[in-house]
Amino acid sequence: MRRLLDRRRRAARSLPPFEEVLRGTVLVRHLRCGKPGCHCASDEGHKVTYLSVTLADGKTEQISLPKALVPVVKRWVGNYHAWRKAVEKVSAINRDLLREQRAKERSRDRSARGRSGRRSPNS
Ligand SMILES: [Zn+2]
Repeated sequence: MRRLLDRRRRAARSLPPFEEVLRGTVLVRHLRCGKPGCHCASDEGHKVTYLSVTLADGKTEQISLPKALVPVVKRWVGNYHAWRKAVEKVSAINRDLLREQRAKERSRDRSARGRSGRRSPNS
């Protein structure tokens, strides 16, 4: 029990700031602008980086990112994954805690029944 509580505390402490969480994917696409004579007509095209997010209604929102913002957005998306992982980890720890507490409650019920010789009214 103590060990699980320590693990839970550690998982919560190691998280990045919640204010810097961003769900989505950073994608790179190559586009051709269509201007005659532009290099993009003959090479791989203009590199455009953007954030793509699928919303609850199934729609996708895309925000193109200037170069300077790409590292920030990548960090925020990484923070989101750290939080998601932590939610799963803490949930697993809490399930283990629940099992331990349930076992404790059951043995308490059993010993209470043993003393009184009948079922406890709460079980
Ligand atoms: Zn072009």
